[in-house]
Amino acid sequence: MTARRLVVAMASILVVIAALAYVIHARSWLLYSLESYEGTPMVALEMPELAPGTEWFDDWYSIEQIDAATFAIGEPWYYEMNYNFLILGEERGVLFDTGPGLRNIRPVVEALTDLPVVVIASHYHYDHVGGHDKFPVVALADLPVLRRLVTEDGMFTPTSDLHLSAFTGSTPPTHRVSEWWAPGKRVDLGGREILVLHTPGHSPDSISLYDRDADQLFSGDYIYVDYLYAFIPNANMGDYLQTAHQLLSIIDDDTEIFPAHSVPADGRHGVIRLGRSDVMDLRDALEGIESGTVHAQGFFPRVYPVNDQISLFGDFEWLQDWD
Ligand SMILES: [Zn+2]
Repeated sequence: MTARRLVVAMASILVVIAALAYVIHARSWLLYSLESYEGTPMVALEMPELAPGTEWFDDWYSIEQIDAATFAIGEPWYYEMNYNFLILGEERGVLFDTGPGLRNIRPVVEALTDLPVVVIASHYHYDHVGGHDKFPVVALADLPVLRRLVTEDGMFTPTSDLHLSAFTGSTPPTHRVSEWWAPGKRVDLGGREILVLHTPGHSPDSISLYDRDADQLFSGDYIYVDYLYAFIPNANMGDYLQTAHQLLSIIDDDTEIFPAHSVPADGRHGVIRLGRSDVMDLRDALEGIESGTVHAQGFFPRVYPVNDQISLFGDFEWLQDWD
């Protein structure tokens, strides 16, 4: 082989390695463009049918009253079928997530309560923080991954990785941090106390809210029905498992778990209720995946069974992070 051919061969190998490294690095985005969610309409083509107990607020939002002081504000037209939760005490309320922001959620909140409302996100993915800019008081989970992004004058903007901006081309929100809610904090709403839990796995900044007296857990995207996204950037299998252990030590057999997304049951839209056994199934599946006894289907993402209504989308085995 001549020196020139050798150089060409080496250069070709380097190009192939670089291309492979890029494909591995950008695997989630490439999957996104290949599967072409862009072809999926963001909004349902036909009027969604609501489950019993769920009512239309207007032609976009639905409302289900969970109890006298707890409301699920749904977005049945939106393809991800988000649920935002309004949790009221006697003195103030919490709005847990503001949805994708395709419609202003503030009038819904103001129609349901006169109390001052503090907003906090379950996590900063684009479909949970789209209405944050409509509210003056926004709390931030006190986590290093978020705190390091706050400017000296108290403004917060998530990174595009935390916001998944590339999925939608949307711009991450910027808001003032009015309150810091550290994991373990008990937020007093007046006659109602909400415990803040750090529940990473789906994302490093994920939190859940737990009302021990009402035995309600608002789980954000940690657990929901259908496919759990454990393959996206910043998701972490080890965190998923640790969070399952944490939740199982806190909740009980009567706990109602309210996820931030729904899927229609019998074609009808309503809030989903999961229970402790679903978290146990998730823990068992994760332990099985880690030890190699639970096997995946599909090339990418790897699809693991959890139970008859939940599966987990995982990364390639050799890229799964269990630390
Ligand atoms: Zn999410």
